[in-house]
Amino acid sequence: MSAPPHKARPAGPGRALPDTQQGMRRRNLSRVMHTVSAEGPLSRAAVASRIGLTRAAVSTLVDELIRSGLLEELGPERPGRVGRPGSALAVSGRGPAGIGAEVGVDHLAVCAVDLRGRVRARAVRHVPNRDRSPAPVLGELTELTHRVVAEAEGEGLWPAGLAVAVPGLVARDARTVVRAPNLGWQDTDLGELLPARFPLTVANEANFGALAELWLGEDTPRDFLHVSAEIGIGAAVVVDGRLLHGNRGFAGELGHVPVHPDGPPCACGGRGCLEQYAGEEAVLRAAGLEPGEDRVGLLAGRAEQGDAEVRRALHDAGTALGIALTGAVNLLDPEGVVLGGALSGLAPWLLPSLRSELARRTAGPACPVSVSALGPEGPLLGAAHSVVRGVLDDPAAVAERD
Ligand SMILES: [Zn+2]
Repeated sequence: MSAPPHKARPAGPGRALPDTQQGMRRRNLSRVMHTVSAEGPLSRAAVASRIGLTRAAVSTLVDELIRSGLLEELGPERPGRVGRPGSALAVSGRGPAGIGAEVGVDHLAVCAVDLRGRVRARAVRHVPNRDRSPAPVLGELTELTHRVVAEAEGEGLWPAGLAVAVPGLVARDARTVVRAPNLGWQDTDLGELLPARFPLTVANEANFGALAELWLGEDTPRDFLHVSAEIGIGAAVVVDGRLLHGNRGFAGELGHVPVHPDGPPCACGGRGCLEQYAGEEAVLRAAGLEPGEDRVGLLAGRAEQGDAEVRRALHDAGTALGIALTGAVNLLDPEGVVLGGALSGLAPWLLPSLRSELARRTAGPACPVSVSALGPEGPLLGAAHSVVRGVLDDPAAVAERD
């Protein structure tokens, strides 16, 4: 998939390149990067045969990518063969890095991922962010970002961009948080409060979670719904390997799909939304527990011990998820549903009722529901990898920025 989390991004990945010689060159640079990234180490000849260009043309592209620090040569391969030995190419482990960040209700996290997809630096701080104003939260996030960037730079990497996952609605400018009810933020331009030295992309955490699943998950289908939760419930729709953004960029608000139209009032102005039955705090309330930190850990621990009230609350939450997902599955006909984020830790107790509700209410064979192996790490990894994918999609843009 080549689209960034946002179409209005001013520069970099996913731009339609003009159909000129220059545009062709940029597209070919990207094809070389993607091929070596997916299948490397590869010789120039192997790259040429995979993308259908002459070896001479590929050599010119490869030389340019080596000069920009995006590819590196690992030394001669197959020295026993007749003729000049080809040198194996790999994406650089010392070039650009994607910096991913996450603003959670209870934590801040930042990581640096290199072009090979390895996490090279990481920092997490547990801090209650609910109803804190954006400036101090983003001040702390900036501090963590600088720490991670310094560590990455110490290993010869340089930041190609910063992508931030937030639990809220993000405008199509990919900078402005329109509404993050569980943080209490509204119309906040994160670009004004985060370091200006990096190209910035802000997206909903559910979108980054889905992209992480698409890029890093095992056997992830090209059409799927990704459902994740913290206090709110978010979903992302991936169609043919691309995120569906919707008109305003707000697609995927599964948490506000009504499950019982006359149910309890919701912060969105509606009643009986899914979030009122399957959000972490709703489940804790239904189980007679106090919402505090580590809500998922508390629920999973009690459920494991056989606490009947907690198991019933999770069973009911699974039913509510099944009802809400029925609408989405009937409408979109995805290949599968993936439970990610915090929901993945509660899956053993949510899945039976969720699956049976979905099977009962949808026609034909039931839509398979699986659990993300990335768990709560998904949004942070998806954010960092979105920057890395941006480099693979348009390596010339990165080289020009040097
Ligand atoms: Zn609602």
